[in-house]
Amino acid sequence: MENQQPGQQQQQQQEEEQPQLIEREIEGVTVIPPPFIQDPINSDTNIIQKQEVEPSTETRDDTSRDLLKTIHCRLCDCKILTPKNAKLVEKQITLIHKKQSNTAEELKYMWFLPDMFSFENIAFSKDVNATHKYLTCAECEAEVIGIHYISSKENYVAHDRIIYK
Ligand SMILES: [Zn+2]
Repeated sequence: MENQQPGQQQQQQQEEEQPQLIEREIEGVTVIPPPFIQDPINSDTNIIQKQEVEPSTETRDDTSRDLLKTIHCRLCDCKILTPKNAKLVEKQITLIHKKQSNTAEELKYMWFLPDMFSFENIAFSKDVNATHKYLTCAECEAEVIGIHYISSKENYVAHDRIIYK
């Protein structure tokens, strides 16, 4: 890095100020986040491919995949979902850790709810993008626990970010 030309240095500074927005595929549609709303996931985001442990068989019905436990926030214990209100699906979703975080994880075990009114308690993060909003605990709002797609109204809660009771 010692041999950098002054011009290159300037270019790097500009890139830092304005992270390049990455094209991503959401629900089979290629999405380029509009530059006026900064997407939390950008070229500076460190994306980790998480090795997840599959949810235990006690958490769901073998046939219907229905949730059989109660889902709580792993940090403050707030009740998020009650039994029968979600189904276990495998869908790879990249989720940032917290608001303003520069790390994200690729997670695949998700609790799917077609209807946001099936939540016991939930809050939307303020990091709003044209296609989705992040779901967070209504009590502590500390972590991103899932995603809500605006057009399809689908909700996914990440198994990796919650606890069961
Ligand atoms: Zn919480």
